Amino acid sequence: MNRKMTEEEFLYCFEEALASGDIYVTYQPKINHSTGRMIGAEALMRWSDRERGMQYPSDFIPVLEKNDLIYRADLGVFEAVCKMLRRCLDQGIKPVPISVNMSRYDIYRKNYVEEIEKLRIKYCVPVNYLHVEVTETSAIGGTELVSGVLRQLHDYGYIVEMDDFGSGYSSLNILKDLEVDIIKLDMRFLSGSIGGRGGTIISAIVQMAKWLGTPVIAEGVETMEQADYMKSIGCKYVQGYLYSKPVPEEEFMQKIQQVDHEPLSPAIDLISTMDAGRFWDPASMETLIFNNFVGGAVIFSYKDGEAEILRVNKKYVREIGMNMLEHEVISTDPLSTFDDHNRKIYEDALMRAVETNDEVSCETWRTLCSKTCGEDKICIRSFIRMIGKTDTQYLFYVMVQNITSERKRFETLYDSERRFRFASEQANVYAWEVDLATKIMRPCFRCMRDLNVPPVVHNYPEPLIENGIFPPDYADMYREWMRQIEAGEVDQLEGIIPLTVGRIPFHVRYTLERDENGKPLKAYGSATMVVESEGK
Ligand code: C2E
Ligand code: CA
Ligand code: CA
Repeated sequence: MNRKMTEEEFLYCFEEALASGDIYVTYQPKINHSTGRMIGAEALMRWSDRERGMQYPSDFIPVLEKNDLIYRADLGVFEAVCKMLRRCLDQGIKPVPISVNMSRYDIYRKNYVEEIEKLRIKYCVPVNYLHVEVTETSAIGGTELVSGVLRQLHDYGYIVEMDDFGSGYSSLNILKDLEVDIIKLDMRFLSGSIGGRGGTIISAIVQMAKWLGTPVIAEGVETMEQADYMKSIGCKYVQGYLYSKPVPEEEFMQKIQQVDHEPLSPAIDLISTMDAGRFWDPASMETLIFNNFVGGAVIFSYKDGEAEILRVNKKYVREIGMNMLEHEVISTDPLSTFDDHNRKIYEDALMRAVETNDEVSCETWRTLCSKTCGEDKICIRSFIRMIGKTDTQYLFYVMVQNITSERKRFETLYDSERRFRFASEQANVYAWEVDLATKIMRPCFRCMRDLNVPPVVHNYPEPLIENGIFPPDYADMYREWMRQIEAGEVDQLEGIIPLTVGRIPFHVRYTLERDENGKPLKAYGSATMVVESEGK
């Protein structure tokens, strides 16, 4: 008869079931979907009661946890796994790493890690054949205890997998806080279709995990479509009914002899993450790879006005001009270096990048403090691209260029030009500037209005000679002025020239601006009406 056992029955039968083998282990393979090879397997507990049939973990595990018996069951599973691995090794069968579940209640047991380590040594199983799965929910309400257990596991050499990632609340933060080696993302926790919202969240998590250098295994994968989608966003490892249900030990040992194995590749390969993911559309793929090799780049998450840097490259640190190490940069809040005005410019640009889903650029000043150089202001041009998003946060990829010297130069010029223009307005002066390299002249508003000068004049002064603003009999004299200015022979020039078809006499003056090497850069011209100004 097949029926669910009651809580009392579970408790009453537990010891006997554990001792007799009614509680036993099944194995579910983990597969590289790109190659079809096995990378490992997960040990899953089963309870087959002689009278009442198969019982499932979702029913008996909560009972064992509540009654402080789960650690005994988990140690039983760990020991069975060690025995199985020992059998493989003894028979010359090459095993795969087996992941064993650790209940969050096991974390509270002081000696739990020592106890599994004792079992491993008892069966003489190399530690690289054993992984431990801890659930994300263990970390809620105090990561310190969990961190301690993870450290202990790492010290012994166990690989730690974060189980059921994405089911909890603070998923993305936990990723950064806890040092896990592998993340397991459960497809069953996804609401919505994989192309839609659910897919967006998954894709963002995979991207984020990749930037952190943590491989991801998708579990609960039932269809080829799901597996292909996961592969397309850069997650090729899958576990689920698509490849195999959990199978008993004998069957599993057959399987590992039939199916090829390969190790799970631990580190991220930046270029392989550029696979046609949703946020790495093919058109921009090359750009991203390229940028990664030529420019300073930073990846950060952004949530409610707070940014957290996840990754920077060396060029970023250099471009920003900080004498810091990469990990020091990562722990700083990138938005704290802005004043309110610049912060707004930057955050507006971030939001534009979100809205347009395209690259957006902006220029902002920030104040940097360093122990050796004191405080300094720098101007950064940022090229911003959103590469992932969840319900509450965004992931940005930003390329930076330090344009401080360019800007400072422009600002001084702009400043002097502005002063000049104000002065002109007040003195009733017509003003213009000539860029000597390009022979482009830009007039003031009054020149345009009163003298009909177009806003930009190329090949200055020829068009103004042609249209009669400079009368023909003064053309050669004026050309000679321009030659002297271009050649840098003079710094100032002045004279009376009749302008416009009405031949109104103007007092025309020129001032030359040179660059830091003395080379002529720009000429500032002005004209005041002789009758008007001298008549006063
Ligand atoms: P889990 O660790 O997330 O294990 C994966 C569960 O998903 C397993 O259920 C597995 O049989 C099931 N599964 C695998 N592929 C698919 C699929 O394609 N579709 C669907 N719908 N399900 C799939 P299971 O074996 O019933 O275990 C349930 C949970 O019980 C486990 O979730 C784990 O939290 C817990 N558990 C199982 N064995 C142990 C154990 O030895 N110790 C502890 N502490 N917990 C265990
Ligand atoms: Ca698990
Ligand atoms: Ca799981």
